[in-house]
Amino acid sequence: MSETRLFEIVCKWCGCLLVTVERLRDAEIAVITDHLRVCHPFESREGTPMLGEVMARVTCRTVERV
Ligand SMILES: [Zn+2]
Repeated sequence: MSETRLFEIVCKWCGCLLVTVERLRDAEIAVITDHLRVCHPFESREGTPMLGEVMARVTCRTVERV
């Protein structure tokens, strides 16, 4: 079976679509982390946030690939 679902990662603060991916990998997580750090620095702490902290700040939507 082919994968037809994609994940859309949307910032909870600004509603900006950050990445659309089949699977979350380090590269995508880095994009999300960078966005939070640059656009919402008041929410970011020093150092690299834990994955759970990053994911708590974004909304993950599942979309069907057309
Ligand atoms: Zn944002």
